[in-house]
Amino acid sequence: MSHHDERTFVMVKPDGVQRGLIGEIVSRFEDRGLKLVAGKFVQLDEALAKEHYGEHEDKPFFDGLVEFITSGPVFAMVWEGADATRQVRAMVGETDPAESAPGTIRGDFGLDLGHNVIHASDHEDEGANEREIDLFFDDEELVDYDLDTAAWVYEEE
Ligand code: UDP
Repeated sequence: MSHHDERTFVMVKPDGVQRGLIGEIVSRFEDRGLKLVAGKFVQLDEALAKEHYGEHEDKPFFDGLVEFITSGPVFAMVWEGADATRQVRAMVGETDPAESAPGTIRGDFGLDLGHNVIHASDHEDEGANEREIDLFFDDEELVDYDLDTAAWVYEEE
């Protein structure tokens, strides 16, 4: 793997889908130079939602979070690029949109912690990106191809 093959998991949440933000969000990652390697439009069932957010099962917001994330379709994606997990989190903003800088996705499109538009793997949680990719995608759903623009995004292959 070259230095720009790091993969991260991203999901437009039900509020983002309903507000018509899939295209806007995909565009931001494309514009950054990241490579889309998988995408899936699905509605999560309760079991998958609880597994995905398992680390929060003892938190007071857990039941509401599971209810929200299963309330409508989501758009799950895998994006690849140099330092992808940390760079995507920086583009997403803080957990609370009210604390997120303008220019970030949550800072531009959200106002409420419970409806924060997007999920992205936590770069401070080692292996979260791979765990989440495995939870949502089979290996054969991760598409292997060269992105022609990579030669212009990166100085070295
Ligand atoms: N959340 C919430 N209330 C809280 C904290 C978190 O509803 O007080 C939700 C919110 O949708 C958040 C998700 O739980 O995105 C997961 O929380 P985490 O701390 O992992 O934040 P994230 O990694 O999404 O920024």
